[in-house]
Amino acid sequence: NTPLQEDDKEIYDLIQKEKYRQYSGLELIASENFTSLSVMEANGSPLTNKYSEGLPGARYYGGNEYIDQIENLCRKRALEAFSLNPSEWGVNVQPYSGSTANFATLTALLQPQDRLMGLDLPSGGHLTHGWQTAKRKVSSSSIYFQSMPYRVNGDTGIIDYDKLEENAQLFRPKLIICGASAYARDWDYARLRRIADQHGAYLMADIAHISGLVASAEANNPFTFCDVVTTTTHKTLRGPRAGLVFFRKNKDELETRVNGAVFPSCQGGPHNNTIAAIAVALKQVAAPEFKQYAKQVRANAKALGEALTGYGYKLVTGGTDNHLVLWDLRPLDLTGNKLEKICDMANITINKNSIHGDISMLSPGGARLGTPALTSRSFKEQDFIKVAEFLHRAVQISVAVQEKAGNNTMKDFVAALQDNNDIPALKKEV
Ligand code: PLP
Repeated sequence: NTPLQEDDKEIYDLIQKEKYRQYSGLELIASENFTSLSVMEANGSPLTNKYSEGLPGARYYGGNEYIDQIENLCRKRALEAFSLNPSEWGVNVQPYSGSTANFATLTALLQPQDRLMGLDLPSGGHLTHGWQTAKRKVSSSSIYFQSMPYRVNGDTGIIDYDKLEENAQLFRPKLIICGASAYARDWDYARLRRIADQHGAYLMADIAHISGLVASAEANNPFTFCDVVTTTTHKTLRGPRAGLVFFRKNKDELETRVNGAVFPSCQGGPHNNTIAAIAVALKQVAAPEFKQYAKQVRANAKALGEALTGYGYKLVTGGTDNHLVLWDLRPLDLTGNKLEKICDMANITINKNSIHGDISMLSPGGARLGTPALTSRSFKEQDFIKVAEFLHRAVQISVAVQEKAGNNTMKDFVAALQDNNDIPALKKEV
C-alpha cells in the first residue's frame, strides 16, 4: 500500500496546491465550507470499497453488517439534528448530491409532465427547481416536468408571493418548491403551504444553503409546513458532498415512494464512505458549539452587508437574514465576472451571480458572498469589516481597469489588466 505522494505524485502535488489555495485565500463562496478532519477521515476510509444497494436490513449484497449500522446511525442523527420525531419523519441519506436528492424527490412526488413551480434561477433559485430559458428547457426538472417559475419583485428583491399565488391559480401545480441558492431572506413557509393546499399540491423545501441555520433554529423551520425537505450536506451543514431527503412518514406512502425513487429509480449503490462522513458531521451539528457557529455565520453576514452598504453599495433586498449577501453591481456598470476575476487574482474567492432582470447568466450583474467558510476559520464581525474593505478596493481596481479597457468586453478587460500594480498589492495584504 503505497502512499499517494509516492504512488501518484502529479495528483498529490495538485491536491497540495489546492489545499494551499483554500487556506491562503479568503473563501467567500456561499455554498462552500471547510469540513472537519474527522469528516474527511471517514470520507477517505475503506467504506468506499463496499456495495450495499438497498436499505439497512434489506440489501442486494452480502457483507453489510457494519454498513447497516453506519447508515442507521446516520439516519438517526439526521432526524436528531433537525429535532424531528421519528414516528412522523423519515430520511433517506443515500443521495449522491443535492441535485440527485431533488430529482429523486420529483420522481417520488410527480408523474412525467406534471406541473411544478420553483423560484426562477435569475431570482436566486436552483437549476433543479425547474430551470428553463425562453429558448430551452435546461434542467431535467423542466425537461421531464412542466415548470412555471415564480420570481422576486424587481424593486424589493423579495419573493413576490402575491404573484406566485395568482399564477398558481392559472397553472394549478402539483408541487411547489421553496428554497434557493442566492436569496438573502427567510421564507414564508406558512403562506406557501396555504397556496399549495389551494391546489392539493405537495410543498417541498430545498434547504441546501441554510440547513445549518435551520438545524440551529437560526432560520424559520420548513418541517412544520412541508411534506418533503431536501438538503445538501456540504454547505452550512459542513459535511461531505452529498444530499438528504426528509419525508413525512404518514402521508401518501411517502416513505416507500421516496426510498424507491432514490434506489432503484435514480441511483445504484450508496456511497458508504460519504454516509459515514455525513454521520460524523451530523454529530457535530448536534453539539452546542455548532449553534454558536450558526449564530456567528449570520452575524458575520450582517456585518459584511452593513460594511458594504456603508461604502455606498447596493445589496439585493437591502441586507440579509442568513449566511449570504447578494451584491448588485449594476449601479457601478460592472459585471460579476469582472469583479470575480479581480478578486481571484487577489486570492479572494467569490462568484458572479445573476440578479433578477439580468439577460445573460454568463455575464451577470451581481456577486454572491457567503460567510460559512470563513466563519469556520473563526472569523468574527470585525474580520468581515476588513473583508469588506478588501472587496471595496477590488471594486475600485475593477472600475479603474474597466475605464482603461474603454470597452465592456471581458477580453478587453483582461487585456487592460496587464501591468496593474494595485492587484499584487491587494493580494499581499489579503
Ligand atoms: N439545491 C440548492 C438550493 C443548491 O444551492 C445546490 C447547489 O448549489 C443544489 C441543490 C445542488 O447540490 P449539488 O451541487 O450537491 O448537486
